[in-house]
Amino acid sequence: MLIINSEFLISNTDVSKCPNNSLPDYAFIGRSNVGKSTLINALCNKKSLAKTSSTPGKTQLINHFLINNNWHLVDLPGYGYARTSKIQKKKFQKLIISYFKERKQLISAFVLIDIRHQPQTIDLEFMYWLGEKQLPFSIIFTKSDKLSQNKIKLQIETYFKKMSDQWSFIPNHFITSSPKKNGLKDVLEYIEELNKLK
Ligand code: GDP
Repeated sequence: MLIINSEFLISNTDVSKCPNNSLPDYAFIGRSNVGKSTLINALCNKKSLAKTSSTPGKTQLINHFLINNNWHLVDLPGYGYARTSKIQKKKFQKLIISYFKERKQLISAFVLIDIRHQPQTIDLEFMYWLGEKQLPFSIIFTKSDKLSQNKIKLQIETYFKKMSDQWSFIPNHFITSSPKKNGLKDVLEYIEELNKLK
């Protein structure tokens, strides 16, 4: 699938106000600075559809984009920013939890992980929570251009070894680089396949 049309629809702090139609949602989420906005822009081939590097943790909104008049790309707020206040963290949690619990149109989440880092508790806990709620997700490893092929392999092995403490299978995953456009086609093809199953 090529994205030939992408447009911003609406930002919300209230899940019930998200677009009220039957188009499927694909939600992108991850720690602040993981490269989520950059990835969304690269997927859509636009320079600034999603806002990159705004004050991390500040914008706590559910952003809906309409893709090819056919599905929603949902940009969820970044989590885990150290300087976020406790109140903001709670607000974020509430918003995310209500999105995942209430949004019937959600087909799959994409949890973004910076491939350079060791497994972080906040990501592992979040994926465990998705699993508990039986919400489908894939992992998108970002910034692979920053590592050698050998190091990428090592990082992935380490990641899934850690995940095997809690998971009996290796989750579906993609290895991406936004500037090099690596792995982006695979993400879009995967979404296309899921859309066909609808
Ligand atoms: P967000 O907070 O998750 O939306 O992160 P951003 O998209 O704003 O990216 C954070 C920083 O990482 C920015 O400086 C980006 O240029 C950089 N970045 C994002 N994706 C990549 C990538 O795939 N490769 C490299 N080398 N840098 C990236």
